[in-house]
Amino acid sequence: MTKNKNILIISPHTDDAELGCGATLYKLNKKGYKLHYIAFSACEDSVPKNFNKNILKTEVKKSTEIIGVNNKNLTIFNFKVREFYKNRQEILDIMINYKQRIKPFIIFTTSIKDIHQDHKVICEESIRAFKFENLLSYELPWNAKNFQPNFYVEIKQSEFLKKIKSLSKYRSQKFRKYFDNDFIKSQILFRGIQSKFNLAEAFEIINLNNDISI
Ligand SMILES: [Zn+2]
Repeated sequence: MTKNKNILIISPHTDDAELGCGATLYKLNKKGYKLHYIAFSACEDSVPKNFNKNILKTEVKKSTEIIGVNNKNLTIFNFKVREFYKNRQEILDIMINYKQRIKPFIIFTTSIKDIHQDHKVICEESIRAFKFENLLSYELPWNAKNFQPNFYVEIKQSEFLKKIKSLSKYRSQKFRKYFDNDFIKSQILFRGIQSKFNLAEAFEIINLNNDISI
């Protein structure tokens, strides 16, 4: 049976998925997988004052293009940041629609241990929508201090550099400490040393229903 080559990337806000697994996504794209990226908010209400309110919509396009997302497979919804809990059913319906339409082979989402209110909603609805699919959580350590990885993806230096390049497109977010290149490198190095690889991105397996190798 031919393996479905669609990958669904669920990012609560623009930038979460690249921070959590940008290098893995780039690697998958190089291997021939088709990346579908959905962000549920461009966070108009939390963009720094000196930037246009829609800046993240432009930045996410540039960022995801670098890791291999074709712009036509990038969708940004307009849910209000920090208020996702008000729209749970709508969010679930969107995910189910993607499941039926693209039949993703792997879905990447946030961790159940993530304490950000929107990230939590996204993880819970992902678990509901993708009960029988391969569902992995990516790591955002500042929001999920108890993240417990049980799946590691080897990252090459060139793939790490693509992640850095992709994140560099978020000029409006550069002030955040976790956008610091040394921090991003240390995370990938730490997870590498913890696994059998030199560099790695780490994941929690929520469901694994088909054999995956990344
Ligand atoms: Zn977020």
